[in-house]
Amino acid sequence: MFNYKTVCLDLDGTVYRGIEPIPEAVRFIRRLQEAGIEPFYITNNASMTRTQLRQKLAGFGVITTEEFIYTSGMAAAQFVKRELPDAKVFVIGTAALREELETVGLELVEEGSNAVIMGIDKDITYTKLATACLEVRAGAKLIATNPDHAFPSHQGFLPGNGAFVKLVEFSTETDAIFCGKPSSIMLELIQQQTGASKEDMVLIGDNMKTDLLAGVNFGIDTIHVNSGVDRPETVQASAMSVSRYIESMDEL
Ligand SMILES: [Mg+2]
Repeated sequence: MFNYKTVCLDLDGTVYRGIEPIPEAVRFIRRLQEAGIEPFYITNNASMTRTQLRQKLAGFGVITTEEFIYTSGMAAAQFVKRELPDAKVFVIGTAALREELETVGLELVEEGSNAVIMGIDKDITYTKLATACLEVRAGAKLIATNPDHAFPSHQGFLPGNGAFVKLVEFSTETDAIFCGKPSSIMLELIQQQTGASKEDMVLIGDNMKTDLLAGVNFGIDTIHVNSGVDRPETVQASAMSVSRYIESMDEL
């Protein structure tokens, strides 16, 4: 039985694969909406704004609003705002990440920061990485959107944000704080927004080390769907206590 009131869906590998929708997921979302349940979409992708993600979903026939979309960029912005409310931040990342940080009122600076925030930046340079290292050595906290070491492309796996964060960590001998999954920051924010109890929440995702671990860390039920990166055998072989395994969301 599927009795959850607050349904959190991963995006890539769960609702779509790159530019292709997953039809079973789209059908499931429609069934939820017809039952009066608006699902939440939570993604480690900090390179798109919530508006861009809403438009992408709409292109697949999934109609929602920005308040139901959570990105690791937004999570980083909320986290910094909560921990360092008057922070000046040095950012490596896309315009989407900068927009999230400015939305919560953080001041973006090129030096003299209290926090360095790193998200994927395809225009990354030695100078940007050097500045990040200098800022961290001068006392800025190192905060990152997501730890993904690689992401798929038509050419194969390309270096993800985590690879560049590792460089700064290694050079400065400092550990970064990651705000995307498997951190449960996004789930905490959803719980605050809805007032849901943990028993009423579920997380559905394809990735064991990010999605399912975030749900387990937060203490809610998790469902593994076999439409993305991890096969069920891999998840079962780990010691992780996943609530349910499904081949597709037609089973829900
Ligand atoms: Mg995924």
